[in-house]
Amino acid sequence: MSETGVRDSLDELKTAAKSSIAEASSLSELADIETTYLGRKGQLTQLLRGVGELPPEERPTFGRLVNEARAGLEQALADRRAALAETEGAQRLRAEALDVTLPGRFYTVGRQHPLSATMDRIKRIFLGLGYEIVDSPEIERYHYNFESLNYPEEHPAMDEQMSFYVTDDLLLRTQTTAVQARIMESRQPPLRICTMGRCYRSDEVDATHSHTFHQVDCFAVDEDITFADLKGTLYNFAREMFGPDTQVRFRPDYFPFVEPGAEVAITCVICGGEGCGVCKSTGWLELGGAGMIHPNVFRQVGIDPEQYSGFAFGLGIDRMPMMMYRIDDLRLFLENDIRFLRQV
Ligand SMILES: [Zn+2]
Repeated sequence: MSETGVRDSLDELKTAAKSSIAEASSLSELADIETTYLGRKGQLTQLLRGVGELPPEERPTFGRLVNEARAGLEQALADRRAALAETEGAQRLRAEALDVTLPGRFYTVGRQHPLSATMDRIKRIFLGLGYEIVDSPEIERYHYNFESLNYPEEHPAMDEQMSFYVTDDLLLRTQTTAVQARIMESRQPPLRICTMGRCYRSDEVDATHSHTFHQVDCFAVDEDITFADLKGTLYNFAREMFGPDTQVRFRPDYFPFVEPGAEVAITCVICGGEGCGVCKSTGWLELGGAGMIHPNVFRQVGIDPEQYSGFAFGLGIDRMPMMMYRIDDLRLFLENDIRFLRQV
């Protein structure tokens, strides 16, 4: 190759390289261009290898020209790289920019259902009074729900109109009291047992009635248990639950599984007994039923009523948060309206 030929090749190469560099639109493209011209097997390097074909006197000049071309291209690459880096950096900054004025995402925190919170409080109080908390099935045998509790035949509660029967022998328990015989037939006194949970009755649904409701049932069996023990226990519970000034009222009532039986009421938690809309001006709120366990209940499970006595009471749970939080509609507990559930 003649000197002119080689020089022309060098000029062409420089022109092509510079225009590629100018057109490169990214840093990675630029890196490829660098390899193509200046790399170990690049075009400029190849050209330099051709120096041997030139006459010896022309070699130094050509070598200088190649080195100048290399320096020129390296400079052009560096300039373009700097320009691109600036643009790409600016683009990335723009793309990754944080808008600190955007409102944050709010994560909602779960809360206990008012009924669960109430049941937890009840549980703590009876655990503190020495009771054992047990579970009892919601689908209960007819025997435990009624028969073992001394229900007379033809009692209206046993009617299919009043209760949800699954089969002739199985029904959704109508009261947590069903736990009594289950425990007493397998264990011996002394017993201090408490259970709570859902109960079901075929009731018209309105603001104060539901087919599904919650009860807590406790009973104690030992020698020499008296009605005074029952009263003391319920006084303790009521004051822990509703405040130290709470009074408890017992009025005679009938339940097949107790004798004597009583209706339990507390002084109104809203007006303190003065009379208000919540207590319908009576000053009292009914909580449930109580009494001394009927000897027939003991006999059925093989506990001697001459040796042992016991008391039992069952309280409606749903009314407690209704009174405490002034909730006027029972249906709210089951409807799962998040606006309601968040308040408590
Ligand atoms: Zn009141």
